[in-house]
Amino acid sequence: MENNGDVVFRAIQIVEVAAGKFDQLLVQRRLSDLPDNPLVMAVSHSSLNYKDALCAFGNPGIGCEYPHTPGMDAIGKVVVDHSGTFSRGDELLVTGYDLGMHTPGGLAERIAIPPGWALVLPQGLNARESMALGTAGLTAALCVEKLLDSGATPQDGEVLVTGATGGVGSIAVALLAKLGFRVAAVTGKLESADFLAALGAWKVIDRETLAPFASKAMTKPPWAWAVDTVGGETLFNVIKSLAYGGGVAACGMASGAQFHASVLPFIRRGISLLGVDSVALPIEKKAGVWHLFADQWSIGDQLNRIAEDISLGQVPEYLARLHRGHGIGRYVVDMS
Ligand code: NDP
Repeated sequence: MENNGDVVFRAIQIVEVAAGKFDQLLVQRRLSDLPDNPLVMAVSHSSLNYKDALCAFGNPGIGCEYPHTPGMDAIGKVVVDHSGTFSRGDELLVTGYDLGMHTPGGLAERIAIPPGWALVLPQGLNARESMALGTAGLTAALCVEKLLDSGATPQDGEVLVTGATGGVGSIAVALLAKLGFRVAAVTGKLESADFLAALGAWKVIDRETLAPFASKAMTKPPWAWAVDTVGGETLFNVIKSLAYGGGVAACGMASGAQFHASVLPFIRRGISLLGVDSVALPIEKKAGVWHLFADQWSIGDQLNRIAEDISLGQVPEYLARLHRGHGIGRYVVDMS
């Protein structure tokens, strides 16, 4: 829709209605409200990530300034690119960098960004699949890549995945299973055990199983490797339960950002703590992972199980779900 030559579009907007109290609204915005970045895209799909939920509920650690449109993922077509990098109509994928942080994000029908944040979707993936994966998928793949680079093989033993029903967790389970690993999926939602089994989990473990590890310096090592999306004390419980020479790819903080650790698992068992970031990662590295997803690491069949389509109007309800840790899999926001 145009109004006096200015395009009007729908967007989610987070507003601070009272000190520390935030509302998540569906509003109309104008193109002239967006920052003066060279690349303007018409967004066809976005997705929800945990960080969007933190921003939507005013988590101070995230650094969003309100009113604000979150959404760290977007795919859509170029409306105009004043930098000349892309042509009108090119379909581009954007994840991370500052999208949805200080720059108005992908939970809107238009975004304006620097062209260096965007890449051409590789053949073999469509728009919906790219958002079913999104930042969560990119992160899961980077975790798996870190384990493989550290020498992980399916013969080593089981790989633990924490926060297994979440976006990153569910994609990590499906990808590791596809690559032949036996996955032990840790969840607080045992009622979703069938979902995790369908993704290829070898076994499903109650989150509470890890709690007694807290009182021990090290435990008998049940697992060879791990992907931890939860952080906090869970991360140290995972570190102390890995077998000699193992490692954990740590990407998340769903249960907390701090953890207390001892050096014993590192100096007695040679455990590696492998940090993963998918947000500020150079665009060429992101492109490499998207090419893997389009080809050898395709989990196309599983994405229908993992991802649910929602409308822009449903976003507030689903952000609340994610914020409470009640999300299952991924949520694709369809604006096409
Ligand atoms: P989701 O909200 O989709 O999933 C998080 C899952 O963690 C929940 O579904 C739940 O799974 C589990 N969980 C939630 N609360 C707790 C708790 N208190 N204790 C233990 N487990 C809990 O989030 P995402 O998968 O999108 O993101 C997961 C984490 O990864 C987040 O912390 C996010 O910030 C981080 N992340 C990091 C990135 C990076 O570049 N490093 C990029 C993307 C995400 P279950 O019930 O199955 O246990």
